[in-house]
Amino acid sequence: MLGELASGGFTITPDPAIADIIIVNTCSFIESAVDESVDEILELAELKKTGRCKRFIVTGCLPERFREEIAGSLPEVDAFLGTGAYHKITEVLTRPPEPGNCLLPPPAGLPLQTHDTRRIHSTTAMAYLKVTEGCNRHCTYCIIPRLRGTLRSRIIEDIEAEARHLISSGFRELVIIGQDTGSYGKDLVPDPNFSRLLEKIAEISTGTWIRFLYGSPDTTDERLIRTVAAHENVCSYFDIPIQHASSRILKRMGRHYDKNALLRLFDNIREIIPEAALRTTIMVGFPGETDSDFEQMLNFIKTVKFDHLGTFIYSDSDDLPSHKLSGHVPASVAKERHHVLMSAQSEISAKKNQNHIGHIYPVLVEEQVEAGLFTGRSSFQAPEVDGIIYIDSTDAGVGEFSDIKICDALEYDLRGETI
Ligand code: SF4
Repeated sequence: MLGELASGGFTITPDPAIADIIIVNTCSFIESAVDESVDEILELAELKKTGRCKRFIVTGCLPERFREEIAGSLPEVDAFLGTGAYHKITEVLTRPPEPGNCLLPPPAGLPLQTHDTRRIHSTTAMAYLKVTEGCNRHCTYCIIPRLRGTLRSRIIEDIEAEARHLISSGFRELVIIGQDTGSYGKDLVPDPNFSRLLEKIAEISTGTWIRFLYGSPDTTDERLIRTVAAHENVCSYFDIPIQHASSRILKRMGRHYDKNALLRLFDNIREIIPEAALRTTIMVGFPGETDSDFEQMLNFIKTVKFDHLGTFIYSDSDDLPSHKLSGHVPASVAKERHHVLMSAQSEISAKKNQNHIGHIYPVLVEEQVEAGLFTGRSSFQAPEVDGIIYIDSTDAGVGEFSDIKICDALEYDLRGETI
């Protein structure tokens, strides 16, 4: 949308107080995201009364999920654009305002991004590289396929062209994403396969880190692990959201693997790449989760010892298949399980971080926070979701790699110095 707006002659400001038009792009994946989106809308809409704002637009998954019913409940909004209408943003803004205007075409109608789609980056050293849209799976707790449509993959040549462009623009890390990244290519004939895509990008990106997020246990096969192992510039980092480790709960979630398959997968990764960093996401309080299921999951994370772990509490909604499942877990129990899991992981993370002390790692320096202090990330830390490294230095180059000796470990972050 930013690229589309810039091409349409609009000037972009991150400061809503001085904007003539405010656009709020929303998430509605879980209840807390819906609440956060609505709070943000209500807070920013005040600027229509007190600030310069003349048009107020809401885009993304919130209008897509709640469709027209949302227009009546948020009269301050001039137009709603669903996930299939991002490319219509300038068209809407150049037409006279029609209060309550809702543009909600099917999400699968959104044109796929191409290498010549204009982009405005809000990141500096790192750029996201989106290779697919949508998802063909049916996890019972997930609204995403309905909001983003079925899987659609970009062709390899087009992704390669965008990767080349990003590298020549100075980005030192490309983060490959999609809603279900590992399923890349399954909708194309012949299926080029995610490992093939990764090989291609790695080959043209020497000197730039390549990382991929949102893998899946059933798409992380031996070929993919060996592809990561074979390329020095591909981060040995596996983000594989498992959601649970009880085979019974995984079946109710509509995930097509069980606990033993997960144990084999993580063993296999560590056997092929002993230094690999593992990240996962886990959901607690899914309908039917018993104390015994939870214990199995807790034991699982203590066994595998993930480097990074995100946990969230199951969020119920009557438009989800999981809503109809029996055995909904009381909120207080789910909250307590969340706390127990996070405490266990915090001990694991703290110990793992201690092991980094004294080691020297290449670090991508991303920001100077004050005189003599920078922040950056190593190859075992993904942007936004994992910890960072505080770097004591007077001259670390932002946007460049620097060898950093780790001197101290915090619970999730590290501290180091240039050598
Ligand atoms: S694979 Fe991910 S995006 Fe697709 S349905 Fe499952 S949780 Fe949702």
